[in-house]
Amino acid sequence: MHEMALACEVVEQVTRLAEAEGAAGVSRVTLRLGVLSGVERGAFEFAYPAAAEGTVLAGAELAMEEEPAAVLCRRCGRRTEPEVPFPVCGACGSTDVDVVAGRDFTIRSVELEFEGP
Ligand SMILES: [Zn+2]
Repeated sequence: MHEMALACEVVEQVTRLAEAEGAAGVSRVTLRLGVLSGVERGAFEFAYPAAAEGTVLAGAELAMEEEPAAVLCRRCGRRTEPEVPFPVCGACGSTDVDVVAGRDFTIRSVELEFEGP
């Protein structure tokens, strides 16, 4: 399951960050999910709690932002944001396009918790 591997990777990266910062816990993790990334949001949200269990992320809130797709057309040169989940120029309908946004799956921000002095 692709999403399970991704969830584990997110947990691993955030855990490393929390350790590096000396944080006591993580309160919130925000992920950015490109609509063309191939990651299924529902599947990820299903896999995440299992991956986070027993880690510093266990009680953290998971927030996901969707990144819309954007393509740069090689035929007409325009940059459009196609609504359909596959890359096609919104201006002329050409499929000869470069995808310039919407393919990434990234950790956008992490809110850490620190113990009082
Ligand atoms: Zn075009």
